[in-house]
Amino acid sequence: MLSVRNLTKSYRSAQDTVAVLRGVDLTVSPGESVALTGESGSGKSTLLHLIAGLDEADDGEIVLGDITITGLKDAERAALRRDRLGLVFQQFNLIPSLSVADNLAFQSRIAGRHDATWQNELIERLGLSALLKRYPEQLSGGQQQRVAIGRALASKPALLLADEPTGNLDEDTADEVMHLVRDLVARSGCGLLMVTHSERLAAMLDRRVHLHAGLIA
Ligand code: ADP
Ligand code: MG
Repeated sequence: MLSVRNLTKSYRSAQDTVAVLRGVDLTVSPGESVALTGESGSGKSTLLHLIAGLDEADDGEIVLGDITITGLKDAERAALRRDRLGLVFQQFNLIPSLSVADNLAFQSRIAGRHDATWQNELIERLGLSALLKRYPEQLSGGQQQRVAIGRALASKPALLLADEPTGNLDEDTADEVMHLVRDLVARSGCGLLMVTHSERLAAMLDRRVHLHAGLIA
């Protein structure tokens, strides 16, 4: 479903060029959950950003389903992100001026993919029923991340991309959030590519790949 082939990306400054990705190959099958590990600075976020179409690769190919992301224009990448991808980041990125209920529904409504039954199931499974009228600042970190996960899955993406989603949570809360992600991804049938530092969390997914020296080992 996701196929990354020979992907390269360098960052250039006036002084020098840093080759971050040097020919990355990676496949995620439909419904498969894959952990992406690697040292700090190894390019994990860069790779996720390229797959999400938030940045452009120098060379190589990213194909999601029947769409080649590399080569799309900005607006087409944004549309693909909206229609096919769910994104979860370490800093929850909720909209402060919207209630939990509106944060949850925001992206699926924009995408024209709002499904009240699925949304209600997400609310129940994520334990958010009693929090719907609250605002993000009135929530704990774990609660905010549960909302962010619900928001990302509400539009039924083909692939959920998560960049250290539990990086700001204590260990118990991280485990709880990870179990929810794993169960909800299985329930929705989407693929998962998740960056994590944690061996323990990586072991909870179907497969693990390691990024080192610009390549997937
Ligand atoms: P990771 O997520 O594995 O910690 P990143 O993908 O964030 O790594 O960064 C990989 C390397 O690319 C680092 O050396 C980082 O400094 C560099 N880098 C990331 N983004 C940029 C950018 N926008 N401009 C210049 N260098 C960047
Ligand atoms: Mg990172």
